[in-house]
Amino acid sequence: MIVRKSKDEIATMRHAGRIVAETLRLIESKIRPGVETIELDRIAENFIRKSGAKPAFKGYKGFPASICASPNEVVVHGIPGQRRLKEGDIISIDVGAEYNGYYGDAAATFPVGKISEQAQRLIDITKLALHKGIEQCVESNHLYDISHAIQTTAEAAGYSVVKEFVGHGIGREMHEDPQIPNFGLSGRGPKVKAGMVFAIEPMVNIGGFKVNILPDHWTVVTADRSLSAHFEHTVAVTKEGPDVLTVV
Ligand code: MG
Repeated sequence: MIVRKSKDEIATMRHAGRIVAETLRLIESKIRPGVETIELDRIAENFIRKSGAKPAFKGYKGFPASICASPNEVVVHGIPGQRRLKEGDIISIDVGAEYNGYYGDAAATFPVGKISEQAQRLIDITKLALHKGIEQCVESNHLYDISHAIQTTAEAAGYSVVKEFVGHGIGREMHEDPQIPNFGLSGRGPKVKAGMVFAIEPMVNIGGFKVNILPDHWTVVTADRSLSAHFEHTVAVTKEGPDVLTVV
């Protein structure tokens, strides 16, 4: 069942979303060659707590950290640790926060120092795919119009979308109905209605769409070890159109 949110609930979610966006901005300012991803996690956790929220990922199904830090071939769910970022890497950071019982969830892929043209293009296209998906968050559209817009944007650039992990509804739970695949046929799926709030999150690979999960049971990598990027926003559907909640 897709739970629709009231204006008051969306206002609380906007507060959670702002904390998430501010955390991402802070982390972006700390990313440089030589930084360990565990340092980024500490900075994020401190900031989220200082902001009056809770890191939503910490302890979620046993996840040990407050952010997911996913470099290069890691698609999502990378566990922060002693891995040091190096010049030319890309790093996807996913942040979730719970404020007053409501969740915000967003992710972005950042360059570490100077990166290759092909890595920059992957970042640009993945971000574009997210925004093409967000544009479809309007009443009377169907859910998979979002999916279709993401898939066609990524595939037109010669990339593939990950199929095993999907976007989701969000609200009082971090993961609510519906699942929002990053691929699909337009005109299909439930009708999009005002009050629905979606976490839309394209995961785009330079190579094939297949992924593997490493023995830590969390880290998702591309099966061919090609580069992967990930962008996510929490978006409320309103009568006036999409309203992105995870912004500063
Ligand atoms: Mg999410």
